[in-house]
Amino acid sequence: MEVGIPICRCGLEAKVVVSWTDDNPGRRFYDCKNYRRESHCRFFAWYNAPLTPRARVVIVGLLRKVKKMGRAKKIELYIYGYALTFSHITFLQ
Ligand SMILES: [Zn+2]
Repeated sequence: MEVGIPICRCGLEAKVVVSWTDDNPGRRFYDCKNYRRESHCRFFAWYNAPLTPRARVVIVGLLRKVKKMGRAKKIELYIYGYALTFSHITFLQ
């Protein structure tokens, strides 16, 4: 057992998770290891201090760029798939 890791109400060492909410983007917190199971205890504690307002603005801006990039990639793959579907038509070759 590592020193300093809180124990949740299930008696397990809590795991560190990263928050991706708009209020706390990139901020880490402790959560129950059973979170995905029905038996989780709803333990919660922040791992590190809140972000400064400037850090929050920067991280939220970066997240928006990443989301846009992801959307652009999906559109690119969709167009590529569409082109493959109709590649037998001569005007696309
Ligand atoms: Zn627990």
